[in-house]
Amino acid sequence: MLPVFPEVAPVKFLHNLGLYLHIPFCDRKCAYCDFYSLIGGEKLKDEYLSALLVDIKLKGGQFDRPFDTVYIGGGTPSVLGDKIAVLLDTVKSSFNITADAEITAEVNPDVSDEFLHFASLNGVNRISVGIESGIDSELKTLGRTHTRQDAINAINRIKKHGFKNISADLMICLPDSNLCTLKENLDFFLSLQIPHISSYILKIEPNTKFYKFTPPLPSEDEEAKQYLFMCEYLENHGYTHYEISNFALDGFSSKHNLKYWECKEYLGLGPSAHSFIDGKRFYYNRDIKEYIKNPHTVFDDFGGSTEEKIMLGLRLKKGILLSDYISDDKIKSLEKLEKAGFININGKRISLTDRGMLVSNAVIGEILELL
Ligand code: SF4
Repeated sequence: MLPVFPEVAPVKFLHNLGLYLHIPFCDRKCAYCDFYSLIGGEKLKDEYLSALLVDIKLKGGQFDRPFDTVYIGGGTPSVLGDKIAVLLDTVKSSFNITADAEITAEVNPDVSDEFLHFASLNGVNRISVGIESGIDSELKTLGRTHTRQDAINAINRIKKHGFKNISADLMICLPDSNLCTLKENLDFFLSLQIPHISSYILKIEPNTKFYKFTPPLPSEDEEAKQYLFMCEYLENHGYTHYEISNFALDGFSSKHNLKYWECKEYLGLGPSAHSFIDGKRFYYNRDIKEYIKNPHTVFDDFGGSTEEKIMLGLRLKKGILLSDYISDDKIKSLEKLEKAGFININGKRISLTDRGMLVSNAVIGEILELL
């Protein structure tokens, strides 16, 4: 969750916007998942889609600026089946979507050919697949409904539909995991030959099954070993570790997600979706019934402060030009973090090392104290 930084004057931005659409449905709730999603029947799905289309048309009338990324996330957008066509059609006729826009849809391995066909036909050019693991026992522990073979079949089908820009999620530091199981997973993901991998350390969130029945997890030391091993392994296989949790082959970083970390503007529609426009952050409540009846956003806070730009910018491998925010003599005092192996200082640009990314909150906290 983003921190709150009050009393920051709104800033006018000039760049293109990103659009996020939330599809809050899943066939089953995974044991670790804190995203806003429900197991809805067809009636609720239809009512939600109708409300979302109305909201898209309404907001489209209020924004004439170009959008160069669209991200359909969830939940599981692939539950929409062929209705993805009407959703994308409405987006394109309501918003000014640039011809070269990156349009991503999240799917699960059980995605239908029908969804992939209509997604491809209507402009989706990036698919993000929730695979999480290539080990069947781990998938079972996580409460996923697919197997390793299902994941292989899904990637093959996605490629057959012409998609080249494919990402897959991998979850590390699972119960009973170790460097051996991690290597098995990394080799599995590499064998899929996809240009982007998002990898998250399993964290136990409130309101999840794992919160009630927490399985034994690897120690902090083991967690560090797994994260650093993964970074090195993927980098040795040609992937750039461009953000704390994201790895990409050249040219395949997620343009949409970069907007979040580069403090650029985006509009989110649907329950739980967040927006950042004209220096203000706002969101829809996590309540589908409220959204269907009366979709309205709640003001969160002003955004785009120096603290926020440093916090988000340091998530990225390229780091930030700290001299934009801090005087040279203070930057010198960061050399101890560099000596300890947590940051790289390159002229006036600083960035986190892999070790620094592992403990990013503490390192960024120290840097913020210099402001
Ligand atoms: S499929 Fe994704 S969004 Fe749905 S419950 Fe599982 S992790 Fe959460």
